[in-house]
Amino acid sequence: MVARRFSRVFLPVAALVFIGAHRLTAADVSLTPDQQAAELAHKALADSGAMEILTSLTTEIGPRLAGSEAEKRAAAWAQKRFERAGFDKVEIETFPLEHGWARGVEKAEITSPTSQSLIVTALGGSTATPPEGVEAEIAIFKSYTALQAAPIGSLKGKIAVVTEPMTRARDGSGYGVAVRNRSAGPSEAARRGAVAFLLRSVGTDNHRLPHTGMTRYAEDAPRIPAAALSVPDAEQLERLAALGAPVRLKLVLTPRDLGAVTSQNVIADLKGREKPEEIVLLGAHLDSWDLGTGALDDGAGVAIVAAAAQLIHDLPRRPRRTLRIVLYGSEEPGLLGGKAYAEAHKSELDHYVVVAEPDAGQGPIYKFSTGVGNPEEPTLQRIRAALAPLSILPGDNSSRGSSDVEPLAEGHVPAVTLAMDMSDYFDIHHTPDDTLDKIRPERLNQSAAAYAVFAYLAAELDGNYRAPAPVSAK
Ligand SMILES: [Zn+2]
Repeated sequence: MVARRFSRVFLPVAALVFIGAHRLTAADVSLTPDQQAAELAHKALADSGAMEILTSLTTEIGPRLAGSEAEKRAAAWAQKRFERAGFDKVEIETFPLEHGWARGVEKAEITSPTSQSLIVTALGGSTATPPEGVEAEIAIFKSYTALQAAPIGSLKGKIAVVTEPMTRARDGSGYGVAVRNRSAGPSEAARRGAVAFLLRSVGTDNHRLPHTGMTRYAEDAPRIPAAALSVPDAEQLERLAALGAPVRLKLVLTPRDLGAVTSQNVIADLKGREKPEEIVLLGAHLDSWDLGTGALDDGAGVAIVAAAAQLIHDLPRRPRRTLRIVLYGSEEPGLLGGKAYAEAHKSELDHYVVVAEPDAGQGPIYKFSTGVGNPEEPTLQRIRAALAPLSILPGDNSSRGSSDVEPLAEGHVPAVTLAMDMSDYFDIHHTPDDTLDKIRPERLNQSAAAYAVFAYLAAELDGNYRAPAPVSAK
């Protein structure tokens, strides 16, 4: 097993080094940007280097919970790799986190009418039960809307359980609908008197693995312990409750609030050869949930942008504009790294040409959407043409970026989305199963190829993606 993995990773890396040496010829500089982009794609599809990066991150660092020592080790790992690779400026920017959080014991069992154990995991930020747990009758709701319809006080002393399923979709849109329950469900239940909250995992699998993820307590409601049930356990509870006899459940959760901690963003620049002050920014988040090793979320994104940048770094000459990679900390608790970066860099908002971030697994990428002033801008047409051979379709102009670059897009920085196929992403997302063996190198390489093509052309061509000047100013 070890030997097989070694050879699978080692041989393409050796091949890449060979190709890299061959590429440093004067003739390559004569390629047009469009030809250069095609070459980048070709090389990335063969081996982008992303698999080696992701293997290193998930194996040497492992899980990287926001604000943890492991997350700091991941930042140091990234800094060292960028420095060794010859990036011009590599910096770590530290920011405060009000609350670090650590998982504890998590156990649940049905105590009546029969005794059965259940698989649960605490939601991120959840408060603890007393050490001996809470035991209470459950009140079960088939949807978040049904919970909201319950009268205030009607759940007094009960454990609220919401079993709304998540819908599988290529564009991941089922997540946005289902995740309200995880974010706001605990406070909605607490307002109605519940002593604890359980939900059917926000996921599309039917494995006996629960999906964690952040919850948000409202200021005006008691903070009750909250956990996710694996999908089969949620269905089991539904069937049992439907039989009519009261169902009692015991829940033990002992997570800890670690108080004030710090997190950090890692920033690495490839300085532009002509317009170094103009920045094309690619982001990804270094933190992960603690149950798996964050291979898909968002180790894959880290590997995709780092590999794309490395391929561009290895070209015979730098693009005109600066390519900046930002590996954000503490995305999972609520885009904290993205917000800290946008605040610390607000004086340079005018310098960003365009921003993008992969945070939806390994791909493949199937659509290129923009959020720009002029979607018909000629260089965007060239980017679309260069992405077409990778089976990437043109999308609309409604992109707001994704994850950590959203705070920049809110500051009116042009953003694009290289939409990833998320059909199977939420089978694994935020579970103990988010591990390296789920990664398919050909999917990862296609994504890295798309990012390399996009970033190279955005940095090499002179496209202006800002809103066109108002008519009165012309
Ligand atoms: Zn993520």
